[in-house]
Amino acid sequence: MKIICVGRNYAAHIEELDNEKPKDPVLFLKSDTAILLKKQPFFIPEFSDEIHHEVEILVKINKIGKHINKKFSHTYYDEIGLGIDFTARDLQRELKEKGLPWEKAKGFDGSAVISNFIPKSTFTTLEDLNFRLEKNNEVAQKGNTALMLWKIDELIEYISKYFTLKIGDVIFTGTPAGVSKVNPDDILKGYIEDFKMFSIKIK
Ligand code: ZN
Repeated sequence: MKIICVGRNYAAHIEELDNEKPKDPVLFLKSDTAILLKKQPFFIPEFSDEIHHEVEILVKINKIGKHINKKFSHTYYDEIGLGIDFTARDLQRELKEKGLPWEKAKGFDGSAVISNFIPKSTFTTLEDLNFRLEKNNEVAQKGNTALMLWKIDELIEYISKYFTLKIGDVIFTGTPAGVSKVNPDDILKGYIEDFKMFSIKIK
């Protein structure tokens, strides 16, 4: 499976990083080795002094597809989840300045937290979902899918122009504002509405 991530999909997060608003979605990939194994802590890698959490709604692809029209996107997923796109912000800044690819800052081992998935039918709509990340029991990031610049169905149309989607692929749909640095002993808990999706210890 592969992990497709969307960057800059929430206006307020674009502003906090002083990025330009893109005219198309920003995409990058993580390999399956980036997945943080279930119930494992996240170890801050030695190559970064500034690991940021980015909490994101996840979509799990349930059938193979290419050049998907957004009208049919909804038939390509039944389940959603919540994840963290851990980012070595210091390294990413360096790579961006040099115009180099971000993989080392975004795709390193353990950089993808993927929760269990829940049926999308649990919710009346996916276009008005509250989600949040708590750091040490205080809300660090709060988002609502209504604030996405590109909605899930539009993302699937766009992504599938470039990458064939396969069963089990996971899309990270972008982070809202509030990203911040993690430190040893932090506890990160993620929620979609009132469903607790994960709890991660930082080491
Ligand atoms: Zn992200």
